Amino acid sequence: MNINGSCFCKKIAFKGEVDPDKCFACHCEDCQIFSGAPYRGVVQCEKTNLNIKGKPKEYIKIGSSGSRRIQSFCEKCGTHLFASGIDKTLFNIRIGCIEQRNKLIPKKHIFASSAHNWIHTIKECEWYATTPNSKKIKI
Ligand SMILES: [Zn+2]
Ligand SMILES: [Zn+2]
Repeated sequence: MNINGSCFCKKIAFKGEVDPDKCFACHCEDCQIFSGAPYRGVVQCEKTNLNIKGKPKEYIKIGSSGSRRIQSFCEKCGTHLFASGIDKTLFNIRIGCIEQRNKLIPKKHIFASSAHNWIHTIKECEWYATTPNSKKIKI
């Protein structure tokens, strides 16, 4: 499927072709810290199927296994865009910055061992359409 996206301030944009089955959510502690969120959703994209406009800032993370991963983000607005190995052949694009995000459904949840212990209760919580004072809705 064809995708396109950008960071929040639009300085960095990209287009690509992905297999929606290669979409997963990562609950590792590094993803929790980088995002400030409970987990990060990604879809994989080969370098040959990805076209990036603009130059993201890169931070090289050393994983617990010792592997080095490039974390690419917009230096202006801070949006997390994608991660790759040092060879930049396969990119894990953050689904939140892809326009077609609602069609990219994680098929696997990885690093479940470090997932927040409330993650399974999310459906039973109270859900509001927008702000905490807005209409209560069912999801
Ligand atoms: Zn930006
Ligand atoms: Zn992770």
